[in-house]
Amino acid sequence: MAECIFCKIIAGEIPGIKIYEDDLVFAFLDIGPINPGHTLVIPKEHHQSSSTIPEATAGRMFKVGSRIGVALKRALDCDAFNLHLADGSAAGQVVMHAHLHVIPRGVEDGFRWNWRQLKYQDGEAGEIAEKIIAKLKVD
Ligand code: 5GP
Ligand code: ZN
Repeated sequence: MAECIFCKIIAGEIPGIKIYEDDLVFAFLDIGPINPGHTLVIPKEHHQSSSTIPEATAGRMFKVGSRIGVALKRALDCDAFNLHLADGSAAGQVVMHAHLHVIPRGVEDGFRWNWRQLKYQDGEAGEIAEKIIAKLKVD
């Protein structure tokens, strides 16, 4: 994709600090990290959504993300890591080339997910599950 900044980073047309590359995926430091070492793992092929990434590439992204997470713990003496992927702008996706965030985390790093826990009404969870499962069977 000619105008995609992440495709341009892979092609070396704009700068990016590479952490890892193989035949399917590319990983580089996020320019605005949640914590230092925050890395993005992307498919080399342009995909806007995670849903169109071929299984082998998606699997590689996850494995490379986990390996980088372990490397972050060893290299930066952090306690843990988050893997995060925003699919669609309502989910927070800003760059429309699918990417897996690998975020080093420390017990006292001062960052918290704004994570809420709603409650289901009686029967609601089952109805929602049925709707989702019906659509999973579509393709
Ligand atoms: P999103 O919100 O789409 O999940 O995340 C996009 C990420 O890409 C952000 O964390 C942002 O800091 C990072 N980013 C945006 N532009 C660039 C860039 O030009 N270079 C690098 N290395 N990271 C970028
Ligand atoms: Zn792209």
